[in-house]
Amino acid sequence: MNLQNSPIQKVKFNKFEYYVKRDDLLNNDFSGNKARKFYHFLVNDFPNIKKVVSHGSAQSNAMYSLSVLCKLKNWNFEYYVDHIATFLKENPIGNYKAALQNGMKIFEKELAKKFDENTLFISEGGAVKEAKLGIEKLAKEIEFWANENQIKKLKVFLPSGTGTTALYLQRYLSFEVMTCACVGDEEYLQKQFEYLENDNFPTILKREKKYHFGKLYKEFYEIHKELIKQTNIEFDLLYDSLGWLVFEKYVKENYDENTKYLYIHQGGILGNTSMIQRYIYKYD
Ligand SMILES: *Cc1c(COP(=O)(O)O)cnc(C)c1O
Repeated sequence: MNLQNSPIQKVKFNKFEYYVKRDDLLNNDFSGNKARKFYHFLVNDFPNIKKVVSHGSAQSNAMYSLSVLCKLKNWNFEYYVDHIATFLKENPIGNYKAALQNGMKIFEKELAKKFDENTLFISEGGAVKEAKLGIEKLAKEIEFWANENQIKKLKVFLPSGTGTTALYLQRYLSFEVMTCACVGDEEYLQKQFEYLENDNFPTILKREKKYHFGKLYKEFYEIHKELIKQTNIEFDLLYDSLGWLVFEKYVKENYDENTKYLYIHQGGILGNTSMIQRYIYKYD
């Protein structure tokens, strides 16, 4: 599998111009920041490994991407969750359905504490140091583009879950990387950074109010639809709606005409199918 340089596209949203790094278009099956984070496992050889074990939610983008990786590598994939909603079990959809089709074995029970030498354990959301390799590649693509276009001042934004992508992007990029917390609060995100590295952290922009991950918010659905209308790009509902709310507010309050603003689209569109169902049911 060849993960080509993803394109960077100029869009206008509301009053401002932005560039969007289309990592959602990296590859049909293996895209977004999970493709970047798992790149190390894709391109290196692991002769001893027969199985990957991970854990998290039954709708996770990381779960789906790992199922693709395991299929490509001919590895078994075991995934542990606290709970699978009965509705989802009876009506598989989105990431869950696709991961099952890729051969994932899912368990509603606690994760073992130790694994044998033939097992590769990947912590929830792909928050692992090995994520460096693919994210360094992402940084290089951005540097190359900025150079080519003689962009001297650039602010880069991407919303965070575990914060792994934003953290390593800042590590390898000469421009400022900004992010916001989508899972947990700003304090949690800061701790995540510290868990992986000691310094050189991205800037965390504060959210207007508290949001709970996976809950439905009218303003998330509205900005999602507005983004499609104005930019013709579908963004993720869990991270990008909040990401755009935070980034747009920042740009509005700090606009500088000599600075370019780059938003990283981190994929996750397959996960939208179940979210959109819930939004339509609630608001339309
Ligand atoms: C996983 C994911 C994130 C969060 O990435 P982290 O590296 O955990 O911060 C953001 N957006 C999308 C679309 C994702 O799938």
